Amino acid sequence: MDKRYIRFTSAAHPEGGYGILEDDKLTVLDRAPWADGQPIESNESPQSIINLLAPVQPSKIICIGLNYHAHVEASQSADNAPERPLIFFKPPSSIIGPNEAIVHPPESKRVDYEAELGVVIGKTGHHISEEAAEKHIFGFTCVNDVTARDLQKVDGQWSRAKGFDTFCPVGPWIVPKLNHADTLVEGIHNDKVKQSGRTSLMIFDIPFLISYISRVMTLYPGDLISTGTPAGIAPMKPGDKIVVRVEGVGKLSNTVVAS
Ligand code: MG
Repeated sequence: MDKRYIRFTSAAHPEGGYGILEDDKLTVLDRAPWADGQPIESNESPQSIINLLAPVQPSKIICIGLNYHAHVEASQSADNAPERPLIFFKPPSSIIGPNEAIVHPPESKRVDYEAELGVVIGKTGHHISEEAAEKHIFGFTCVNDVTARDLQKVDGQWSRAKGFDTFCPVGPWIVPKLNHADTLVEGIHNDKVKQSGRTSLMIFDIPFLISYISRVMTLYPGDLISTGTPAGIAPMKPGDKIVVRVEGVGKLSNTVVAS
């Protein structure tokens, strides 16, 4: 199997450590790979892993709204595709890892899943050109941009709707290489495929997004960009299982619990 960057717990790393899974081997790193993490002496193997954690601890999570034509059409009465990317934040405190529970907060009556491709930044940059964007990518992961849809409409801006604790499942790992211009992003709700869209149908592609965002804010190693969701979003209820599957990356699975 190709190289996968993970963060994990084990008996030797109860607080979590960074590592690389490749074939049947686990290489433990002394810090995050995008912070120049180096291999350390370890006799740990993939069987030593207790849990996979969210593979990133970003300084910020930048999300893109309405970035697939079909999702724009479903969200509005017509396809008024945005002229420029709509960017918003999720707080780093909203991150959870694979198999952790999404908590349905009492403030919302409608909590939706949004299956997305996540891009992890590998190198600091501002005013990055589209041509140089690729060099600033560390790798790719799966993101669920969980959204309290009713609060999003009521508030007029999205910090509350997008920002509850547990509203940003990320993982299960990071892959360094992906044909990000054309890969399949799927949302699977209780074992039924509800979202299925190729990144070739994005309104703004990844190099454009990196360039656009970096004209506003410096992107740091480990920062996470979630690139928008295809059509097919729907509400989840406690007990539901939601999987974000990205072709060439993997499957991120979480369940929903009542608060
Ligand atoms: Mg989204």
